[in-house]
Amino acid sequence: MKNTKRKTICLVSSQLTTDHGKRISRGIAAQCEKYGYDLAVFSSMVNFDLYYQSYARGEINIYDLINFSLFDGVILDTVNLMSSDLTEVMDMLCQKIGREADAPVVCIGIPYKDLDFIGNSNDEQLREICRHAARVHGCRDICILTGPKDNHEAEERLEIMLDELHKQGLEVSDEHRIYGDFWYTSGIKLAQDIISGAVGKPDAVIAASDHMALGFIDEYTKQGRRIPEDMVVLGFEATNDAMLADIPLTSIESNFAKCAADAVDHIRRIIEPDMSILPYETNNRTMMHFGKSCGCTPDMEDMVQAIRTSLYHIVRYYSQDVFEDNVDIGLLLENFIPEQLTASDTPDECIENIYKSTYVISPFLNFYLCLSPDWLDPNKDIISGHPDKTDMVILRSNTGRNDRYRPEEKITFDTSVMLPQLFEQADEPSAYYFSAAHFSDKTLGYAVLQRRYCDSSKFNIVYRNWLRFVNNALEMSRARNRFFVLSVYDKMTGLYNRRGLYSEYDKLVSGISGEKEIFVSTIDMDGLKYINDTFGHSSGDEGIICIADAVRAIAAEKDIMCRAGGDEFIILGLRECGSFDRERHINEFCSVLEKLSGNSGRPYPITASIGCAVGRINDTEDPKVLLEDLLEESDEQMYRYKSNRRRRREDRNGRD
Ligand code: GH3
Ligand code: MG
Repeated sequence: MKNTKRKTICLVSSQLTTDHGKRISRGIAAQCEKYGYDLAVFSSMVNFDLYYQSYARGEINIYDLINFSLFDGVILDTVNLMSSDLTEVMDMLCQKIGREADAPVVCIGIPYKDLDFIGNSNDEQLREICRHAARVHGCRDICILTGPKDNHEAEERLEIMLDELHKQGLEVSDEHRIYGDFWYTSGIKLAQDIISGAVGKPDAVIAASDHMALGFIDEYTKQGRRIPEDMVVLGFEATNDAMLADIPLTSIESNFAKCAADAVDHIRRIIEPDMSILPYETNNRTMMHFGKSCGCTPDMEDMVQAIRTSLYHIVRYYSQDVFEDNVDIGLLLENFIPEQLTASDTPDECIENIYKSTYVISPFLNFYLCLSPDWLDPNKDIISGHPDKTDMVILRSNTGRNDRYRPEEKITFDTSVMLPQLFEQADEPSAYYFSAAHFSDKTLGYAVLQRRYCDSSKFNIVYRNWLRFVNNALEMSRARNRFFVLSVYDKMTGLYNRRGLYSEYDKLVSGISGEKEIFVSTIDMDGLKYINDTFGHSSGDEGIICIADAVRAIAAEKDIMCRAGGDEFIILGLRECGSFDRERHINEFCSVLEKLSGNSGRPYPITASIGCAVGRINDTEDPKVLLEDLLEESDEQMYRYKSNRRRRREDRNGRD
């Protein structure tokens, strides 16, 4: 359980880089900062109905990580979580919440079952846009284009606008109350209808979404009409798309930042009833974005802001504090981070390269990369859920924590904690963004970006795309590792093959200090051909596996165990000088094998011949030459053993 004084709010959302996502984050971050709450955000980067469904599933698995029992309040952004008409994620979240959460839970924008709900009211903003048309531009005959008939949002927006225009002394005729689809297509259709005369020409069109307004402007001007000279057009939502259109659209922001902020206040009233509430203030004047579509002069500051948040690439001098916004997507695309990450020879090098490339996601307080301990194991793909334990393989800190990225520096923790640092008492509250680390639908772990609230608006496409590079690089490491594993292990027994033996031997001898004794033991199964021919090849296989089990049983922890081919095995290990006892080793192997084979109930015995050789490893002798010599000596002994045994058997058979 959480044991610090600072409260932590959990926000579950998706696609935080959209205009809507940014507004939600802005409202919640503003209130959490005021109240000194930490914020943990869990968000998919993509829409749940993305055409590449395996990828979407990999993203969605981040929600499974959430341990609701550790938070003081939970906010569900139902607008984004249900944007694709999919309730699957919400259903899963609610089941988890039912099991785990004892803190208040509230959804924002769209109600869901019996959860507490804070609705969004765009009332004031819609009225403001109507007043702008009537008062500033003197429009009298206004056409309102809203969303689909009977859609709650569409009907509400229409009603508010009609009411405001009525207050302004204007009545909207029936032919100018038009239902659309909130999308470009219905704007295009309205333009065509006005031009053809099917709908009478108004002074102004107010669309209940920017998309419809933009569709209208596009078609109307294509047909030779001019905006704003021939028609005033106003939109709603103030998207960057609208601001950067050929004819910039006058529009007003939706009020979701306020709605999200109210959700934090709602939680505060429950968890800290004695504390004061400092409501989030909105300002219609700053929410209004002036374009040319109504005849106003575009607001340069808004335009510059929109350009800055959408621009692809500018060249500038990059210093630590200059990483600001989406402008730096250009830096990300024009650098060679993807190639450098992909070129990593080993998984450890890949982690180190990821660590080094974190400069591009500044500004941040800390960045954490947490991976499943088995992320490299090709037999342990995770398609849903998370393992019980997680390894933090990167901690990159700008707050004075010790950076960690080397294999020996990783920290293993219970995944149910999500991130140990989340619940440590820090000087100032901050926001933690949790995102899936995955390739396609395979979960590798997750990444956490910790930012100051004043930098929270910079959760942007740079970070989103950098993480994609990271994910691809991790997968490349897994793939390379998989090939490496296949090339050094024997599939049937799981022991090293001959290549693996040599590569492990190199590692073993390079780590030696002082003189050590090295022993080699070679083992060859007896009469495998006979077993194959008499009982079948799979019986022969079972025999090989039985010998491998005996090898495992007698080898010490750091010994190298190898199936050198066919029915031949090698054990190789270091011992303190004078401590290896050949006779004991051989006897131990034979008795273990007898036990394993005797318990199997097979109609034939499984026996093997074994030999040993011992040498000293020191600075003067080439370790490779030494190994070959020892293998040869051990083989000779093993063959002597085999022929003695065969002779004894033949003698016995002869006597019988
Ligand atoms: P010996 O007692 O002298 O060791 O004779 P052996 O019958 O065990 O034959 P040997 O060691 O000379 O050769 C190994 C035989 O094992 C050759 C091949 O037919 C068979 N073999 C090699 N690999 C496999 C395998 O993966 N599975 C099975 N079932 N048989 C194999
Ligand atoms: Mg054999």
